[in-house]
Amino acid sequence: MNTPITEEELKRQLLGTLEFDFRKTPQNATDNQIYKALSTIVVNHLKEKRHKFVTQMNSIGAKQVYYISMEFLMGRSLKTNLFNLGLNETAAKVLKNSLDINIDKIYEQEPDAGLGNGGLGRLAACYMDALATCGFPATGYSILYEYGIFRQKLEEGWQTELPDDWLPGGGVWLMPVPDQAIEVHFEGEINEYWDKEYHYISHTNYQTVHAVPYDMFISGYDSKSVSKLRLWKAQSMSFDMGAFNQGNYGIALGSNNIANALTKVLYPNDNHLEGKSLRLRQQYFMCAASIGDIVMRHMNTYGKLDNLHEKAAIHINDTHPTLAIPELMRILLDDCGYSWSKSWHIIQNTFAYTNHTVMAEALETWDQSLLQRVLPRIYSIICEINRRYCEGLSNRLDDSQKVERLSIISNGKVRMANLCIDAAHSVNGVSRLHSEIIKESVFKEQYEDKPVKFKNVTNGIAYRRWLLQSNKPLTDLLSETIGEGFKKDGHELQKFRLFENDMSVLKRLSEIKQINKQNFAKWVKKANGVNLNIDSIFDVQVKRLHEYKRQQLNALNIIADYNYLLEHPDADFTPKTYIFASKAAPGYYLAKQIIKLIWCLSEELKRNEKIRDKLMVVFLEDYCVSLSEVLMPAAEVSEQISLAGTEASGTGNMKLMLNGAITLGTYDGANVEIHEKVGDDNIFIFGMSTPEVNVMKTNGYSPEGYYNHNNVINAAVNRIYHGINGVAFPDIGDSFKFTDRYMSLADFDSYRTAQSNVSQAYNDKKRWNKMSLINIAEAGIFSADRAVTEYAETIWNLI
Ligand SMILES: *Cc1c(COP(=O)(O)O)cnc(C)c1O
Repeated sequence: MNTPITEEELKRQLLGTLEFDFRKTPQNATDNQIYKALSTIVVNHLKEKRHKFVTQMNSIGAKQVYYISMEFLMGRSLKTNLFNLGLNETAAKVLKNSLDINIDKIYEQEPDAGLGNGGLGRLAACYMDALATCGFPATGYSILYEYGIFRQKLEEGWQTELPDDWLPGGGVWLMPVPDQAIEVHFEGEINEYWDKEYHYISHTNYQTVHAVPYDMFISGYDSKSVSKLRLWKAQSMSFDMGAFNQGNYGIALGSNNIANALTKVLYPNDNHLEGKSLRLRQQYFMCAASIGDIVMRHMNTYGKLDNLHEKAAIHINDTHPTLAIPELMRILLDDCGYSWSKSWHIIQNTFAYTNHTVMAEALETWDQSLLQRVLPRIYSIICEINRRYCEGLSNRLDDSQKVERLSIISNGKVRMANLCIDAAHSVNGVSRLHSEIIKESVFKEQYEDKPVKFKNVTNGIAYRRWLLQSNKPLTDLLSETIGEGFKKDGHELQKFRLFENDMSVLKRLSEIKQINKQNFAKWVKKANGVNLNIDSIFDVQVKRLHEYKRQQLNALNIIADYNYLLEHPDADFTPKTYIFASKAAPGYYLAKQIIKLIWCLSEELKRNEKIRDKLMVVFLEDYCVSLSEVLMPAAEVSEQISLAGTEASGTGNMKLMLNGAITLGTYDGANVEIHEKVGDDNIFIFGMSTPEVNVMKTNGYSPEGYYNHNNVINAAVNRIYHGINGVAFPDIGDSFKFTDRYMSLADFDSYRTAQSNVSQAYNDKKRWNKMSLINIAEAGIFSADRAVTEYAETIWNLI
């Protein structure tokens, strides 16, 4: 890759920026000022490069991709952008030679941009990187949350949440564009009237909030293209003089209050709906601003909206941005004066929707009355969309109960997924299994009605972030063995399989893992004061805390091991270190209990001198993208143990596989495709399959039988009841014994057997290293580059 800036030039710019922006010399600048100065240089470079790219794309009338998502879990930007621009080594040299500073210290200055909860938000971030790398002209849209996902601190093992005040350090990546602000209207009244064949709508007495764009640029790797993420910040008009002059003080000040709260904080729920009016307002705010922006940009180029669907693909990431659909409809009808059918044709050829979950509690519905009050015009459009949809269904199906089940509005609720499925030309799941489940269960009837809409695009990750940028020793080994091609094309990782029986490469691989474990152990020692046994298996479960992900199953197995070791202290036992990191939604009671349980387990084991070298648990605080980058290279076992049929895809599984960890998982989400790639011998699959889960549910699942008749389960659950580290967990005990919604006890024996197979495989070093090599070699398919290319070909019609 050619470097766009020489060492001399970068040095000149850095010294100049320090001088002009901070009045500092390299000698008296702080690390934070150097971080900001270097970032500013990168931002300006990206902005310039983006401008060139957009100009070129516009000159050929290229179709644009607009990716709308309530979440973008970006993590840090400096290292990845320098890297993707081919500037990381130049920057490191400048800092070393001119300032005698290690660039890693400068990277550490940057806070994570945590504008997301977990997998869904990280997926959107990975796609911005891949879209740029693959040269697709893309703009992401989201909210500029003043506070991202909370920082997690444990106090005696209880999760506490601290505000994530990221803008003081993260703000350097944002370019404000105040002259492209958009007005967004809330509440008020609508008046509809007919004059001859024309249908007029007026919306009055609304509250106005200004959406001000802040742009973040994302470099592609070795590419001409740069993605733009446009984040909207709410600002009240400084003062609503019109309302004030009419004596309407309430409205004059009221819009102020709404604007202040609107983009304050990210809702910290993962896979769970919170039907609050502020959340609805956030969603509409983002949608109205983004659609307004798309329309303005299109009008500037083409002067009309008739061809919008030919020049723009709008993607909505889960149902959170659904209101973009009626908002565009509003503009086409009310502002352009297009007919309903012309407008609807544009809508249906513009929007595509990705579904992220089939679990009932996460499917979005909004109270009809809330929508009607907050967004009266949008509500009336949704009613008309629904009326026409149901009319069409009645004609096609002649089954009124079925029409009721598919209806967008039902029982006082607006079902957002049903609206998306009607309006979008494409509905996709995020792994092969998940996409099949969509067609067979939750959206079966919609699938039967319009089968061609339903598609699959298996998730992918920005693999360079977790390999080239996080695991240098492994990257160097790959370069030596298979050349440099894998850096641009993930599929080339497969060449590594040529070395699966090469003893010297396998030995190198195991040495690299040992080095990474040692580095990670140093990091843990510094962060937690705990000494890890680096000769034990590093068994990793890092992801949001959720019952369906079954951290409790992992904990139960550890407790069973603990019981065993208490009875057989001198038994031959393969040492294991269980590493957890996970945030719980602040209002999720049982999830917080499970964190406390795992923490108590770690404390009790730590105190037992006889056991702690064989069995250890650590819970790392504040799981975030940056922590994942430190952790993945050191992982050996990847716990992906959700109940089959519940995890849509998972992407943590991909990051871990890429770093040579072996998946211990259920036949769920993308684990199915990982299994297909690596084969039976290179993965540990356990537990019920989705059809087996369904049979068990149909027959009426009862966990109590397992509790009563399985001695190992009984003793482990009883320990949870009676106390760990002096704390009893009756609610977790009861949830195993009486509810067990995600059937941990039904899968327990199978999980335990799989864990013992892991130990056995690990003790055969050659076998294990070969497994690890094969996982690395087969991870290329899970590249986000592959995923966005599939979207471009099969959904956005870009190619
Ligand atoms: C990748 C990632 C996730 C998703 O992990 P899953 O195991 O797929 O749920 C969540 N949070 C962070 C910070 C990540 O990097």
